[in-house]
Amino acid sequence: MKFAILNGEIIERSEAKVDVEDRGYQFGDGVYEVIRVYNGKMFTGTEHMNRFVKSLDSIGIVLPYTMEQLTKLLEELVAKNNLQLGTIYMQITRGVAPRNHAFPAENITPSLVAYTKEALRPLESLKKGVKTIVTEDIRWLRCDIKSLNLLGNLLAKQKAAVEGCFEAVQHRNGNVTEGSSSNIYIVKNGVVITHPSDNLILKGITKDVILQICTSNNIVVKERTFTLDELANADEVFLSSTTSEVMPIIEVDGKRVADGLPGTVTRRLQEAFEQEIEKQCGALKDKTLN
Ligand code: PMP
Repeated sequence: MKFAILNGEIIERSEAKVDVEDRGYQFGDGVYEVIRVYNGKMFTGTEHMNRFVKSLDSIGIVLPYTMEQLTKLLEELVAKNNLQLGTIYMQITRGVAPRNHAFPAENITPSLVAYTKEALRPLESLKKGVKTIVTEDIRWLRCDIKSLNLLGNLLAKQKAAVEGCFEAVQHRNGNVTEGSSSNIYIVKNGVVITHPSDNLILKGITKDVILQICTSNNIVVKERTFTLDELANADEVFLSSTTSEVMPIIEVDGKRVADGLPGTVTRRLQEAFEQEIEKQCGALKDKTLN
């Protein structure tokens, strides 16, 4: 039997139901997080929790639990579901109220839902790299909020899927922003370049780990916008996300990146990222470079 969290309680997953007038269901009026679990332990759990609260703050929802309570609840859920390797999905919405665009006048209780999923690490893709397409970024101007409204991201990802590709690299006026569900990096002459964490992208937790790894390994990293031209002429390209980790990109819009193999800087980052996972969560059975 699997369990889920509904409004602060752990219940049978099949019993976890939401009201048709939940504002998350009707408007996407809420935010979410996806947290990786390795060896039954949350990776960068505190960082995800902090971003969750930041997203909530920016849309005026007050978390009806302390961070400690919520963390404990998630740990209990992971244990009850006996999750070793997988993800936690967690979302909170403004709550249930008669349908009206403006926020409800009286205080309503936000709805919290969380559940877990078993998910292997994408080792084949991590070793070989993935293909991508390029598409225009048609999303709104607050991509820093991890909003439930994901239509722009979904349309981009679907375009990639139709082309048999793993990810869509989005751009605004020729400047690369981010993937539909990942951050994007190029490497040129040994320098790692990625879009600054402003309102146009999500400040990835994985991105933050990668930036720290670069600094402590003397890999020069620059947070600045880069163009589609720079993308096409990069020595290496990779993406990052909670579920994809440090993922080499070997093709962009049908054109090979350099020689079409994952690059050396990308490999170094993958290795260091796995060391960080092991530091926080214990030994990994399979490694990218094995
Ligand atoms: N950008 C977008 C649009 C995303 O959906 C994600 C995945 N959550 C990321 C970047 C990467 O963020 P993280 O490393 O925190 O998973």
